[in-house]
Amino acid sequence: MSKSQSAATELTEYCENCETHSPHAVSIELRTESTKQTNRAFSREPYRVTQCRVCGDERTQRMNNA
Ligand SMILES: [Zn+2]
Repeated sequence: MSKSQSAATELTEYCENCETHSPHAVSIELRTESTKQTNRAFSREPYRVTQCRVCGDERTQRMNNA
């Protein structure tokens, strides 16, 4: 709820919830991964965040495939 809103791009993408193509707010967020603190203390990974304008369904997808 208190997420800082970065500049989002409006794109038409497929929404699994709506089961149709709908306008989405697409933004890139750097999220700190604190779960694995072995070598790198905190690694910030870029995530692609898309939120459906119709149903509000939010999905995050990690951009780096490790
Ligand atoms: Zn939707």
